[in-house]
Amino acid sequence: MNRQNDFQPSAAPREGSLQWVLLRHFSLQMTLVALLLLLPVVLFTGKAALESEQRLLQADADKLGLVLERDRQALQGTLRDYAGWDDSYYFVNQPHPRYGQINFTGSFLSTGVALVAILRAPREPLLQYGQPAGLSSQAWQATLAGLPEWKKLPVQGEPQVRVAQVGGQMALLGVACITRSDERAPCNGLMVMVRLLDSAYLQWLGQLVGGKVTPVLDGRASPSSALHHARQTIVPLPGSTVLALQLDKKFDHGEQLRNLLLFACILLLLFGLAALWMRRFLRRQVLNRVELFAELAHRYELGQTVQWPVEGGSEIDRLAQSFNQMVARLAAAQGALQQQMVTDPLTGLGNRYGLELAANGRIGRCRNEQGLALLLVDLDGFKLVNDSLGHGNGDALLRLVAERMRQSLREGDELFRVAGDEFALLLSVASRDEGEVLPRRLMGLLHQVFRFAGHEIKISASAGIAYRQGELSALDLMRHADLALTMAKTAGKAQFCVYAPSMSVDVEQRLQSEQALRQALAEDVLEPYFQPVVDSMTGQVVSLEMLARWSHEGRMVSPAEFVPQAEVLGLIGPLFNQLLDKGMVWFAQFREQCPHLVLQVNLSALQFADAALARNLLAQLQKHGLPAEALAVELTESCMLQYPELVDSIIAELVAAGIGLHLDDFGTGYSSLARLRELPFDVLKLDRSFVLALGQGDAVLARAVHDFASGLGLGLIAEGVETEAERRALDAIGYRWMQGYLFARPMQGSEMLPWLSVSGRHSGQCDALDDGIKSEHA
Ligand code: C2E
Ligand code: CA
Ligand code: CA
Repeated sequence: MNRQNDFQPSAAPREGSLQWVLLRHFSLQMTLVALLLLLPVVLFTGKAALESEQRLLQADADKLGLVLERDRQALQGTLRDYAGWDDSYYFVNQPHPRYGQINFTGSFLSTGVALVAILRAPREPLLQYGQPAGLSSQAWQATLAGLPEWKKLPVQGEPQVRVAQVGGQMALLGVACITRSDERAPCNGLMVMVRLLDSAYLQWLGQLVGGKVTPVLDGRASPSSALHHARQTIVPLPGSTVLALQLDKKFDHGEQLRNLLLFACILLLLFGLAALWMRRFLRRQVLNRVELFAELAHRYELGQTVQWPVEGGSEIDRLAQSFNQMVARLAAAQGALQQQMVTDPLTGLGNRYGLELAANGRIGRCRNEQGLALLLVDLDGFKLVNDSLGHGNGDALLRLVAERMRQSLREGDELFRVAGDEFALLLSVASRDEGEVLPRRLMGLLHQVFRFAGHEIKISASAGIAYRQGELSALDLMRHADLALTMAKTAGKAQFCVYAPSMSVDVEQRLQSEQALRQALAEDVLEPYFQPVVDSMTGQVVSLEMLARWSHEGRMVSPAEFVPQAEVLGLIGPLFNQLLDKGMVWFAQFREQCPHLVLQVNLSALQFADAALARNLLAQLQKHGLPAEALAVELTESCMLQYPELVDSIIAELVAAGIGLHLDDFGTGYSSLARLRELPFDVLKLDRSFVLALGQGDAVLARAVHDFASGLGLGLIAEGVETEAERRALDAIGYRWMQGYLFARPMQGSEMLPWLSVSGRHSGQCDALDDGIKSEHA
């Protein structure tokens, strides 16, 4: 058994293979899926980054706003302290030149206030302490002029602090009413404080939020302040609508990008690993197995025995199981079919194909086996058995024949039924002598009576044997045996022939003559000849025997040659009918000359297969206006012994109609006298061999036959009387009717007519067969 052990799945998938297709599609799809997954991630990350930048920027702006608010409130607090201080109040009433140096020192310096001014109401400047760089006195005066009316300020209220532009710079500008701490006296002046939001301050703010902070004056940021590729936002300033801060901040996306890249790499790696794993899994669990299946199926196609591996319970395993079962069922069916192909169903023996296989097998096993012989055995006239007893009985007989033959086999012999009634034996024989023992024994066995279903049948068989020589093939051996059998059958019944190379030629000739005979029949060239039977005492003609003649290629072919041939070819019926058609025309004319003349016609055993035989003969007689008594049929002993039942019924029909019945060639067969007595023969024809013996002085048998016929009251005709001596010897025993060259040779109708009219055999002088018999026994 060819298992899958030696199967190695191909390392690289072959183009077009399932693995190739799957992998190609699979990698394409995996890449697509990875890309599809990456795209939203990138988009989402980008969007999230933007949003987070916005949020962070806003948070920074808020932070700046808070810081500014804190500083504004701090300035408000400082202003509240100094404006509500009694010293400031008294200073306004009684100014002191060193007031500034004395009071705006120490902790005041840490408040970041760059300039303090005190004005007595309504706008009389009393003190200006501090002079920031870049602030001109005109700008300062303008700033002071822009202050709200002091009376509009709440006397006891909170100081007002807002972001304002002071001399072109952004600053926190606070103003408060100067009052006494007990708040009993009215406000006597204004205190103004300026804290510049200068570049250092803005830089500090920028450091706080990690960006760049620039002032927006008149709604416009200074262009130089913007950072490249930075995000920006506007931080509104307390108390001002025109002033604001612009925050520019750069966000570093490098890390995000790196993270994104890392994420993408990890994702791709995971996908790659998943794909690899899937591929491995697919290969191991599916593709390799499918490949193995395909390979095993291919081997199965090549005729190897294969078994698909079953490893678990998956669909593939179920498929494998089904495959295995299917293969097993197929093998069983094939086996049965093969058996059927080589077996003959009727007998259970091998058939012709089986014989061919067996012969090939034996020759193949032992190339030089020279002792191999093939014997073919054919039952003679088996068709008649089928026709007379029915096919059921024919089959039964074949089974009995097979059984009988089987019993005669030796060890190693093989028996076959190769055609309807043809058997073959494959034999191992040491010598030719040995090769002939079995056939002869076999034929002897077959010639013994078969009894079945109330029938008793005697059959004969012909056989041909061929020996294997040299490198002869099984088919040639069969052909040789066939030739030998054909020769045996041509030679007559119950014959046995050994193949000889000359047979091929003989058969070729036979085939040619068969063809010629068919043609002769088709062209209706066969002629009836007539040979008279005469009463030797009176010299008168009593009857005429119709004999077939065939003039072929300038020679007269003997009926002894072509009648058996016609029998083998199944043409004996048509042949006889053609002859009788022509013969009756002549005979009707002969009867006009000799009214009591009888026509004797020879019937072949095979004609008894035709149930209409008697009817046809009577129709012919009627057609020519002749009585049944004008016709006699001649049968041989072997004929009537071969198919007793059929012959008996037709004979009974003929005799009942009044047709005469002659037993031809009497003495040459082996029929029992008892059987002869049962049959309604009226004339016996003594075979020529007895007449010959008589001429040589041996009268015993001729006398015995004469006594036997006289005893049974049968007519007697001696055949083949050639000499006067034979005639006299027959005369001496008591034979009256004779046929032979001494009296006349067989003649054409055209010769017979004048012959009959010659004086002495003329009408009126022709004797009647019946009368003869009567007169002889009288
Ligand atoms: P058969 O029925 O015994 O016919 C007599 C044979 O003896 C004839 O041979 C005849 O020519 C021959 N014969 C007659 N007188 C003599 C003689 O004095 N000396 C010798 N040596 N022979 C003589 P034929 O015509 O060659 O026929 C041979 C056999 O062929 C016949 O033997 C008969 O069995 C068969 N046959 C002839 N015609 C037919 C036919 O139409 N149908 C059938 N079924 N058989 C036929
Ligand atoms: Ca005859
Ligand atoms: Ca004869």
